Amino acid sequence: MSLDTALLYLRKNQPRYRRWLEDFLRIPSISTDPAYKGEVRRAAEWLARRLNYDLHAHVQLWDTPRHPVLFAHLPGEITAPTVLLYGHYDVQPPGRSQDWHSMPFEPVIRDDRIYARGAADMKAQIIALMAAADAARAAGLPLNIKFLLEGEEEIGSPSLPQVLRERRSHLEADVCLNPDAGMAGEDLPSVTYGLRGLAAFELRVYGPQEELHSGMYGGAMPNPIQAAIQALSRLHDAQGRIAVPGFYDDVVPLTEEERKILAQIPFPTEEEAREKWGIVAYTGEPEYTPLERTVARPTLEFHGFLGGYVGAGSKTIVPSSATVKFSCRLVPNQEPDTIHERIRAYLEAHMPAWVKWELEYLVGAWPVLIPLDLPPVQTLKQALADTWQKEPLLVRNGGTIPAVAFLQQHVGVPSVLTGFALPDCNMHGPNEHQHLPTWEKGMEALTRFLFYFFERGKGV
Ligand SMILES: [Zn+2]
Repeated sequence: MSLDTALLYLRKNQPRYRRWLEDFLRIPSISTDPAYKGEVRRAAEWLARRLNYDLHAHVQLWDTPRHPVLFAHLPGEITAPTVLLYGHYDVQPPGRSQDWHSMPFEPVIRDDRIYARGAADMKAQIIALMAAADAARAAGLPLNIKFLLEGEEEIGSPSLPQVLRERRSHLEADVCLNPDAGMAGEDLPSVTYGLRGLAAFELRVYGPQEELHSGMYGGAMPNPIQAAIQALSRLHDAQGRIAVPGFYDDVVPLTEEERKILAQIPFPTEEEAREKWGIVAYTGEPEYTPLERTVARPTLEFHGFLGGYVGAGSKTIVPSSATVKFSCRLVPNQEPDTIHERIRAYLEAHMPAWVKWELEYLVGAWPVLIPLDLPPVQTLKQALADTWQKEPLLVRNGGTIPAVAFLQQHVGVPSVLTGFALPDCNMHGPNEHQHLPTWEKGMEALTRFLFYFFERGKGV
């Protein structure tokens, strides 16, 4: 049993892992669209076959009301520690096909990058976990390895809490290794110690049952777009702070030490942002840096506004409804349910009394801060440092991975987070891609983690 044997095996088997990745990327496992339910299942079954035939793992598919959860187990020595490897095999919808340079579900390699929906988020990361486990096992490492692969992350993991409660005994582990957090830049290996949570909403405001002539009724008829704008415009103040009373009450303040850690993470300057995205200026809380606003401060973001007529020319009507989607990214120790109550109360106070409306609470997920002195965090830092020959960055990520808080709450398993998706990989957008040399290094780092974790945990 040696790490060198495992790393050699890993290198020899690269073509095989590449084929796995390409096959996996061809399955359009879009969890949000019911039309793809069968494809999501096909992705789970494909993984089950690889884990069973190629890794010789014991595999179970657990059905849920939506998409199955895959559990796999590679038993090691009874006294050895247990690591749980997390991944999600579902992907976002590809969006408009004309925005893609190649077909989203037919992987293409250009300039050392593989292009396909789900390449970075997170099919390549799942294959990297499987490759690391394969290499560790081939080299005889008697670590207990479990896989938890879900198909609902991109829709907020709605089935996961119940699965975790019911299958707790299967999932018990010393740590969960989660590579869904990405890295801060090429050659900047990163350990993520913070994630934002989420509370997502849909607001529907109603005017007359059908749209009406604005010349005949405008002036007396309640306009739902006007009402929505009136209420929603109160959610932020002129500086971009969120004006909902109590919104910031539970936010853990940033310490000076943490601000120093965060200042090392690269982020586009305002000048670069103008160039790159064609914006006028950054917005938000002026007392925080743009990076801090995106990873360590909460937000309230509008995602879509639908109502009335937006076709060519003018159509002078009083619309019958307005629909707005928005969500809050949350930071420790904000709770999604409390934020929901506060926003509802605030809208009740500010929505004009002359319209009917409803607010739907779509999904809630808890924010996460992982203690930096957690031993597996040190193990992960070591594995990344030995692979890249440089100290990894400690980063907070503005995104949300609901499973991290759920695993802690329902199974008592802490997570450590990393990943090998680069910031420019366009996850969720068109032309998503994974940088292959970084992916291959990532496999090495994960393999090292498994060995170091076994060594440190042996006999504990
Ligand atoms: Zn992801």
